[in-house]
Amino acid sequence: MSNKVANLALVSNVTFEASKAVNLHHYDLSSALQTSLEFNQLVTIFSEKIQSLIPHSGFEYFNNEFGIAIKNGIITRNSCSYALKVEEQQLGELKFMRRQKFDPKEMDLLESLLCCLIYPLKNATLYHQAIDMAFNDPLTNTRNRTSFNECLKREIQLAHRNHLDLAVIFLDIDHFKRVNDIYGHQCGDSALVAVAKWIKESIRGSDILYRYGGEEFVILLSDTDKEGAALLAERIRSNIENHTLAFDMDTLKLTASLGISHLRSDDHAEQLVSRADEAMYTAKKLGRNRVVMR
Ligand code: GH3
Ligand code: MG
Ligand code: MG
Repeated sequence: MSNKVANLALVSNVTFEASKAVNLHHYDLSSALQTSLEFNQLVTIFSEKIQSLIPHSGFEYFNNEFGIAIKNGIITRNSCSYALKVEEQQLGELKFMRRQKFDPKEMDLLESLLCCLIYPLKNATLYHQAIDMAFNDPLTNTRNRTSFNECLKREIQLAHRNHLDLAVIFLDIDHFKRVNDIYGHQCGDSALVAVAKWIKESIRGSDILYRYGGEEFVILLSDTDKEGAALLAERIRSNIENHTLAFDMDTLKLTASLGISHLRSDDHAEQLVSRADEAMYTAKKLGRNRVVMR
């Protein structure tokens, strides 16, 4: 029989109680952080949960990938900040502030607690990246048709309920097939990117541009009457006409045909969309590079 004694780790009661307390905090914190996939909520939960352990007067969180800049509480001179990262994935920068300095023990504890925040932030990142992929067109950096269908239903409900105006502009680039045939597909792609940029330059921040399909775009104009929509469509049309696209050694001019529809009291999404589509086809038949309202 062996008299070998297993290695024992000696833990004093004080250490044990302390680690139990910290483990409980980790457990409590991790559970709370599982309740959200929103960056704003995650960092707010984290700040609230650690407040009793590491008192602080405010925090800041920046995440460039998703254009997030959160400032909460009182901004002071003393701070400790962390660039959060896991497996090469940048998760933003988190900064805690208060009047007195943070001591090394508090910072050790904070670093240990931050481990609970890393994976929820990574999950939030993956979730938002998936949402972006599902609703955005990567070529033109605009929202896609799925996103348009979702937003349109919501905007129609809102407009009917609050008796607001709502207009839709359909835009189709003229003779776009020729661009691909003459200058190549890469030039066609550059032209799509340029047209999306010129449209964005012409619209307000509250108007949203979507790539509806191939060389077709749609703009959703909330709280916009017929006259406003017509003015905007004409501005977009002339902005495209007045630009010149440079590709390699070539320069080329583009035009587009636009159709407008305006929400009627008994309209559903299908009617509003098909009237804008028909108006756009009428603009094509009338000779292209023009705006038609239905
Ligand atoms: P119209 O004035 O009647 O609209 O003529 P069109 O040539 O623009 O219309 P048509 O529907 O015949 O052709 C559309 C072209 O758009 C055909 C397709 O190759 C091109 N297209 C669609 N999506 C893309 C894309 O993502 N990249 C490129 N380069 N071309 C695309
Ligand atoms: Mg088309
Ligand atoms: Mg076309």
